[in-house]
Amino acid sequence: MKKKIVILPGDGIGKEVTTSGKKVLEQIAECFGHEFIFDEALIGHDAIEATGNPLPDESLVKMKSCDAILFGAVGHPKYDNDPTLPVRPEQGLLKMRKELGLYANLRPIKLFDELLEASSIKPEVLRGADILFFRELTGDVYFGERGRTNNNDTAFDTMIYSRYEVERIAHKAFKAAQTRRKKLTSVDKANVLESSRLWRSVVQEVAKHYPDVVVDHMFVDAAAMKLIQNPRSFDVVLTGNLFGDILTDEASQIAGSMGMLASASIGDAVGLYEPIHGSAHDITGKGIANPLASILSAALLLDISFGLKEESESVIRAVEKTLKEGYRTRDIADEHTPQEKILGTEVMGNMVCNQIRISQLAEK
Ligand code: NAD
Repeated sequence: MKKKIVILPGDGIGKEVTTSGKKVLEQIAECFGHEFIFDEALIGHDAIEATGNPLPDESLVKMKSCDAILFGAVGHPKYDNDPTLPVRPEQGLLKMRKELGLYANLRPIKLFDELLEASSIKPEVLRGADILFFRELTGDVYFGERGRTNNNDTAFDTMIYSRYEVERIAHKAFKAAQTRRKKLTSVDKANVLESSRLWRSVVQEVAKHYPDVVVDHMFVDAAAMKLIQNPRSFDVVLTGNLFGDILTDEASQIAGSMGMLASASIGDAVGLYEPIHGSAHDITGKGIANPLASILSAALLLDISFGLKEESESVIRAVEKTLKEGYRTRDIADEHTPQEKILGTEVMGNMVCNQIRISQLAEK
C-alpha cells in the first residue's frame, strides 16, 4: 500500500514523541511491504516563530492533500503565563480541527494488564475496563461567541450546538458501539443547559436507528464520579467538546498515565492521530517523555485511515510485549521497576520497533 503521511511534531515533547511514532510507521512499512511517504509541517509555537501564524497556509495545504496526519502537541510556557498574547499556539489546533472538519475525537481507554499497578486507582476496580470515548471536537463553548463587556470586567463564552453536529457524531458512536459491547452512555448536563437538552433529544432520536445498542444518559458530574468508581460499567461514551476534554483527562488515570493514551480525530476527509497529552514543558528536552501514546496513535492511524488491522495489531502487541518484559518510561515506572528497565523516549521507541521486527521474523 502506498500512502502519504504528514508529520506535525508541534512543540515541546510533541517533537520528541512524534519521532518515535514515525519510526514505528517506518518499521511497519518495512516489515509489511508498504510505502509510506512522509512530509512534515509546522504548527503551534514553532510556526508562530517562523511565520507569525500558528497554522500557516502551507501546513494546511499539505494536510489537505495527504492520506493521514500524525500530530504531536502544541503549547509553550510563554503563552500559558501571558493570557493577553493575541496569537497563541492553541489557535492553530482549533483552526486545524475546523478546517479539516475533524468533528469526532475517538479516545480508547484500555489499561494494559502490565500497568495495573501504575494507576492511582485500585487494580480490582480497573481490571477489564475498556472504554471508547467519542468527544465532539468542532462545536461547544470552544467555538461559540466569546467576548468581554462591562469595561472588560465581564467575560462570556457561548456553549452552542446544532442538531447536525450532534447527529453526525452520534451516528459514528452508535456504529462503534455495535462493534463492541453494544452499550452507549451519552453525557450531558441537560438538567441545567439548553444546549445539553438539544444534545439529549438528538441522541434519543438517533438511538432509534440502533435498537441493538442499549443507551443511557448521564449528567457530567455523575459521569465524572462513576468513571473512577466503576470504569467497567462504560463501553462507548458520547459527549460534547468541553465535557469530553475534562472526562478524557480524568479517564487517562485509568490507563496509568497521560503518556499512554492515543486519540483519533476524524470527520469526512483526512484523519488526524495524536496523543492526548500536551507539550509538557516540565519534561521537555529531558528525553524522558513516554512515546507510547504517539506510537499507539500510529496504530490507530493504520487501522482507521488505512484499514491495516493486522499492522495496527502488531504495533499494539509490540507495546504489550515491551511492557511485559518490564520496560517502562519514568511516568509508568513504580518502586519495583529496576533502574536498568527505565528507558528514555528514544530507546523506548526503538524497543517497540524491535518487537515489531522480531514478531514479523517469527511469523516468516
Ligand atoms: P500536559 O499533558 O502537557 O502535561 C500534564 C502532565 O503530564 C505533566 O506533568 C507532564 O509531564 C505529564 N505528561 C504528559 N505527557 C507525558 C508523556 N508523554 N510522558 C510523560 N509524562 C507526560 O498538560 P499541561 O501541563 O496542562 O500543558 C502543557 C502545555 O501543553 C500547555 O501549553 C497546554 O496548552 C498544552 N496542551 C496542548 C495539547 C495539545 O496540543 N493537544 C493538549 C493539552 C495541553
